[in-house]
Amino acid sequence: MTRIAFIGLGHMGGPMAANLLRAGFPLTVFDLVPAAIAAAVAAGATAAASAAEAVDGAEVVVSMLPASAHVESLYLGEDGLLGRIAPGALVLECSTIAPASARKVHAAAAARGIAVLDAPVSGGTVGAAAGTLTFIVGGDAADFERARPVLEKMGRNLFHAGAAGAGQVAKIANNMLLAIHMIGTAEALNLGVANGLDPKVLSDIMKVSSGGNWSLEKYNPWPGVMDGVPASRGYEGGFGVDLMLKDLGLALEAALAAKAATPLGAEARSLYALHSGQGKGGLDFSSILQLFAPR
Ligand code: NAD
Repeated sequence: MTRIAFIGLGHMGGPMAANLLRAGFPLTVFDLVPAAIAAAVAAGATAAASAAEAVDGAEVVVSMLPASAHVESLYLGEDGLLGRIAPGALVLECSTIAPASARKVHAAAAARGIAVLDAPVSGGTVGAAAGTLTFIVGGDAADFERARPVLEKMGRNLFHAGAAGAGQVAKIANNMLLAIHMIGTAEALNLGVANGLDPKVLSDIMKVSSGGNWSLEKYNPWPGVMDGVPASRGYEGGFGVDLMLKDLGLALEAALAAKAATPLGAEARSLYALHSGQGKGGLDFSSILQLFAPR
């Protein structure tokens, strides 16, 4: 079976690697945090002493790191992994990073005969654990087909968005829209409650009216309105404010590069920066409600 190296075993990478192990792939893993490696080894992986050692002999390399700087420093430069990965191997770079960084890695890899796909995900830690992530992929269509047997063990919906970097563009456009409708939902709920409405009654009305949207239907930001969402457990778990802030920054960089107008994206970034600055960076992103309805 395809030998896979997996680098970055955090909130997302850990459970994604576990699903590849469950599917029977031989997996060599590396993370900067020894405990993350130990958890993967307990699930059947082989530990490597460095990222470079992990990719020796790998036919597929998967990485899941925090941000652009981590990905560029892992793959590029004198000691970068692209100098170590075998030509002909396939890299699945799953972190959410700047499209420009993804294209840089694609170009440097192509010069060495290594195929890369940018393959950011949607679905959060729950989707990572359940193997139901959505993969939004940029790169060569033939490489996308080659990646399918690996991706489908970690995800349910696989999309080929277009050429190198297109997966990242689609991902950050989606997250910009998510931030905007979450803020709008919080603002509308607060308007109703400030005028005496019950937030659950107002949510039920708007869900089936023209204001209906994913934040309202699946991720209600008002505490106690919906079971099983971060708002109903003190905004713990879920998708962090600081990760959303990072993605909004990426959206604005991409907007600047293409001279695209994103006025609501810019406002959303400002509001998330304000919220993070008030010490809320570690809470789930639906806690943006607290800007409108402080408690
Ligand atoms: P995380 O911080 O939990 O995990 C990142 C891991 O990478 C850490 O374990 C860290 O030690 C490791 N790492 C960093 N640099 C490394 C290096 N040079 N070599 C080896 N390991 C290294 O982050 P996460 O929540 O797993 O998110 C990863 C990516 O997925 C981010 O780009 C994030 O935006 C994206 N994402 C996250 C979610 C979510 O809900 N958490 C959802 C969708 C997408």
